[in-house]
Amino acid sequence: MTENVISATETTQLSNFDHLGLAPELLKALKESGYTTPTPIQVQAIPVALAGGDLMAGAQTGTGKTAAFALPLLQKLLPLANTSTSPAKHPVRALILTPTRELAIQVEASVKAYAKHTALRSLVVFGGVDIKTQTPHLKTGVEVLVATPGRLLDHIEQKTLQLNQVQMLVLDEADRMLDMGFMPDLKRILALLPKQRQNLMFSATFSNEIKKLSDDFLTNPTLIEVARSNATNDNVTQQVYQVAQRDKESLLVQLLKEASTSQVIVFTKTKITASRLSRSLAKSGIAADAIHGDKTQKERIEALDAFKAGKIMALVATDVAARGLDISELPMVINYEIPSAPEDYVHRIGRTGRAGASGVAISLVSEEEEKYLTEIEKLIKKSIIKITANLEKSSQKPTSELQKDGSRPSKTARSSHEGATQRMPPKKKVSDPWFDKPYEASKQTQAVDVRPASTRKTAVAALLGGLVSNK
Ligand code: AMP
Repeated sequence: MTENVISATETTQLSNFDHLGLAPELLKALKESGYTTPTPIQVQAIPVALAGGDLMAGAQTGTGKTAAFALPLLQKLLPLANTSTSPAKHPVRALILTPTRELAIQVEASVKAYAKHTALRSLVVFGGVDIKTQTPHLKTGVEVLVATPGRLLDHIEQKTLQLNQVQMLVLDEADRMLDMGFMPDLKRILALLPKQRQNLMFSATFSNEIKKLSDDFLTNPTLIEVARSNATNDNVTQQVYQVAQRDKESLLVQLLKEASTSQVIVFTKTKITASRLSRSLAKSGIAADAIHGDKTQKERIEALDAFKAGKIMALVATDVAARGLDISELPMVINYEIPSAPEDYVHRIGRTGRAGASGVAISLVSEEEEKYLTEIEKLIKKSIIKITANLEKSSQKPTSELQKDGSRPSKTARSSHEGATQRMPPKKKVSDPWFDKPYEASKQTQAVDVRPASTRKTAVAALLGGLVSNK
């Protein structure tokens, strides 16, 4: 696939942004964004992209990958920046494709922030909103277009967009795009682009499909891997509570009630569990809501807005629904069920401890799930602190023992060590008829956030758009 390989090890020398050869306009914007030191992916990718070569980068959300492609892209377009009012002077020169509308919105907001001292224009287009609202903006001309594949093709069909001047293409979260079935759309789009162009591809994983995509669309790419691609962030404290499946809910309630934070994402494996759990948490007095592929766009946005505003404490999410969430400084994630694919664990806990902030990732692991835990520890090359959660009969509060690694259990696990602790008896079957009803998927609606990107905060909860997964 590639002859050039750069491996950013943990010893990567982090330089100052000034050493990356970026233009003063961009450096000024970075300073204003509060960035002082480039992240490893930025150190590795920016020089390669500035030199004009194709790039295949392994980097997850949260590593600073957006700036890693947006900065060189803007720099390369700077000589073409102009203030002319003629749309012809502002053809689309860089196309950034993302799998979800929310990622598209975030990426474009970043591009705008980095380009604020230049005359380069950017725009985001995505599905789910009336296409006519996007057309006038496109017609005024933009150099950098961020788009989801489906809506981009809609615009091409309606002849509201031309791609014959594109000289740079970015495929962001390429693995997600393949997972979500965008390959045919990608092929159609790529066939419409000039052959002579620079391609930058970013993917959290290097699956065989990604390698194939890279072989098909990139020319002699430089491969960049940031640190160990499956490494977990050292800023995140990871803990495992060993708990019987039937006791998980009580333990979760307890952990949430004792948490010193008001924002927690709780991960479940399935949409059904996510819905049930959020209802159940609400019954226990914890403000909660669920986001998953069966929720309407309106419901998702409402849940996220409520979460961001602090109106709900626990956002219960499936893996796919949580993809692309960028909530700055999210202090805690809880895995109600650990994922069977160890890479998903890395993604999940990557929701916290972002951009240098510290975070806590707690996993509730039943005996049946131990095998997945072993796989996860193998992948992250780390042993996670184990806490055995016992639930006290009288208060139903969990207790724990000090672990073999000598780690001190949390406040929750320490509660009640006077007298004998007993395992909680099996819970009575919940009588709420809601739990006995078959799960009904909501119908998708077209209602979405139509506020202009500029009025939305960038580093906020954002959920993938429109596509329903089977998870
Ligand atoms: P990304 O991986 O592109 O989604 O970026 C994750 C977060 O890190 C975003 O909130 C960025 O604004 C932030 N970020 C990116 N690069 C830097 C940097 N060099 N210094 C500080 N924060 C950064």
